[in-house]
Amino acid sequence: MRITALIPLYAIPVLLVCFFHGSAEGIDAEVFPPAINQGDAFTVKVSGVNPAGLPMAELSGKQLSFSSCGEDCFLALGSVSIDTQSGDHIIRLNIGDQEINLSLAVKQAAFPERHLTLPDEKVFLNPEDLKRAQAEAAKLKSLWPVVTDKVWEGNFILPLENSISTAFGTKRIINKKKNSIHRGIDIRGKKGEKVNATNTGRVVLAEELFFGGNTLILDHGQGIYSLYMHLSAFNVAVDDIVAKGSVIGFVGSTGRSTGPHLHFGVKVLNVNTNPISLAELEL
Ligand SMILES: [Zn+2]
Repeated sequence: MRITALIPLYAIPVLLVCFFHGSAEGIDAEVFPPAINQGDAFTVKVSGVNPAGLPMAELSGKQLSFSSCGEDCFLALGSVSIDTQSGDHIIRLNIGDQEINLSLAVKQAAFPERHLTLPDEKVFLNPEDLKRAQAEAAKLKSLWPVVTDKVWEGNFILPLENSISTAFGTKRIINKKKNSIHRGIDIRGKKGEKVNATNTGRVVLAEELFFGGNTLILDHGQGIYSLYMHLSAFNVAVDDIVAKGSVIGFVGSTGRSTGPHLHFGVKVLNVNTNPISLAELEL
């Protein structure tokens, strides 16, 4: 959806300044895609903006972070959580004195269900393992709210070019009662296959976790993180800056895993996001 804002009379002096600086006449603000599934990523692109007027945008109380996409062009990346109510949501955009409401339609996604039967010892952890798993979960949770400067550039790519074995959002019902939601995608792979960085980023975690096994996390800036689990080995270390497409590790089956595959997850502003939707955005 493209909405061109009408410039109110009181903004004419500002407009004149815009003309003076050779800026475009109006402001174009666009949400893309205009309709998404629960758990998907989207962009807000604002163009024709006077450089003094860096846009601000907010969705459901959460601020989006803009970066430059050329002269008088700003781009923000956001996503909606898997449990976002379907229907129209409003993104409030502020540019100087102007407020523009953009509409984002969220569709009800049909997430698959998978029933598993496992022995109890695989479902319930002993106190020691539980303590370890909880401490690791708390450590990961502390990473996601940290918003650093943008280092990602252009499109996000998938780390492995193989088919998906478990889709994002798959609801796993274990022994008919315990539920878990799959917050990433599982990509098929052979042990030792190369895993590539989805985009340029800084390594913020490279360690062996109880559930994830050898787990790698990249910070791409602007609140965007990617996560790679069950690796057989790492090819990078904490604080390394890795280029998009570079080999960061190798497929394995470490941690709680039934065979070699890559669990690939993405966080956008602390929201679990379908990695496929992020990779499909033209950035
Ligand atoms: Zn997985």
